[in-house]
Amino acid sequence: MYCEADLHTHTVASGHAYSTVKELAEAAADKGLKLIAITDHGLRMPGGPHEHYFHNLTALPRKLGEVEVLRGVEANIIDEEGHLDVPEEILEKLDIVLAGFHSGVGFDGRSPEEYTRAALAALSHPLVHVLVHPGNPDFPVDLEAVAKAAAAHNKALEFNNNSFSVSRPGSLPRCQQLARLAKQYRSPVVISSDAHIHTAVGNFVRAWQVVRGAGIGEDQIINLTAGRVKEYLGWHRRRSRAGRR
Ligand SMILES: [Zn+2]
Ligand SMILES: [Zn+2]
Repeated sequence: MYCEADLHTHTVASGHAYSTVKELAEAAADKGLKLIAITDHGLRMPGGPHEHYFHNLTALPRKLGEVEVLRGVEANIIDEEGHLDVPEEILEKLDIVLAGFHSGVGFDGRSPEEYTRAALAALSHPLVHVLVHPGNPDFPVDLEAVAKAAAAHNKALEFNNNSFSVSRPGSLPRCQQLARLAKQYRSPVVISSDAHIHTAVGNFVRAWQVVRGAGIGEDQIINLTAGRVKEYLGWHRRRSRAGRR
């Protein structure tokens, strides 16, 4: 057991994932997790959910069995200003907002400078909590700039277990470099499975090795405990509300 919470999981609603909320929560309980976030893809993902899906996440119980269930999204960053493909009125209602780059959503083939500006803008977005798979070589951001900005905004950088198994080939060296930078600048870190099938929930081992291999302490890992996740999200909620007044 590495972490109590898995903050990045997908259901059939994503269009290219294969399990239900119930299956994810049961698999999480079997693995001893205390909390999962359901984070289906944003609106521009081909075959992804309609915005009503996110509005209606209020239908989810707060707990399924012994596992707490957070309502979330993995939104797409769609321009250099860090805009997301999910309306703000939805983001405000969700417990957790992941943001990242994906191909096929209208923001492909840009320069490293453009992706870096977009990533920094997303990190400064008050409703974003985690920048997902920032080590993806297909979207080659300036890793040092990203690590510094994450620390400055107290936003977590994700180390995504799928990046070292089924997705995003070539991620390992960039993620190892990012982990060293995250240690240097003390950027908050999240380790997640990015499960697209319930059997993958709580698969952390390869991302854990990258993070711990860089010397990052357990104190820097936000999802180490469910309590720490709630503290982190609560801090951001208070801050974004204060910013609006
Ligand atoms: Zn993703
Ligand atoms: Zn994902």
